[in-house]
Amino acid sequence: MKNFYFLEKDGIEYFTPKIMENERVFVAFTTRNKGVSKDCYDSLNLAFHTGDERENVIKNRLKLIEAFGFKESFLTCAEQVHSSRCVFVSEEQAGSGGFDHRESLKNTDGLITNLKNVPLTLFFADCVPVVMVDKHNFVAGIAHAGWKGTYEEISKKMLVEITGEYNSAFSEISVFIGPSIGSCCYEVDESLSDAFKRKFKGVGLKNKRNLDLAEINKYQLIELGVLEENILSLDICTSCNSDLFFSHRRDKKTGRQAGIVALL
Ligand SMILES: [Zn+2]
Repeated sequence: MKNFYFLEKDGIEYFTPKIMENERVFVAFTTRNKGVSKDCYDSLNLAFHTGDERENVIKNRLKLIEAFGFKESFLTCAEQVHSSRCVFVSEEQAGSGGFDHRESLKNTDGLITNLKNVPLTLFFADCVPVVMVDKHNFVAGIAHAGWKGTYEEISKKMLVEITGEYNSAFSEISVFIGPSIGSCCYEVDESLSDAFKRKFKGVGLKNKRNLDLAEINKYQLIELGVLEENILSLDICTSCNSDLFFSHRRDKKTGRQAGIVALL
């Protein structure tokens, strides 16, 4: 939390890393507040697949895009199927799924780009938003890491994709981890906690059956050579903070906040 500003711009509340303030890279994690959706989607629900009224999601997305000064036609989204597939967004793909979920990039949970002014935007309610930025080669990405994506090491895969394309060093990558469910609220069954324990050597496992998914994603990146000081985590539990965030574990039927990264 100390490494992030909490700001509001044109009615959109968001967290943004302080060290990116003067960079040509925009990173934001939105809250659930100040949108137009009702009831369990109250109120800035940004995802279509939740069962919310489509018109309200469109209004919320337009508000988001306008507040941050991007073009509607460049809002780029993924299908988000809890896979570990990451895609380098081409010029033709920029703008996919921005206002029609059916056109979002299929079977994809990670978006990467070197194109300017293309806000890569994924949606979350407990799963871990992992943003990666290579300032030197000017490339950025965002991953959606739930327990499946975390187990399949989507963070690691995204890092390899980003650095492989430009032959850049892992030590030059900056990582920002947004709001996600904390180990305080994320107890899983024994077979799953055992599987994580085996695969990640007990990292991120608390009180035997509680998982810290953000910690496990961080571990994957450090293992490959990302510097620990270059990974900034917001460390706010989505389930504990109903005033700020949607949480699927807490509310089941609910909305989604967004994680966004864009090169400017
Ligand atoms: Zn919690």
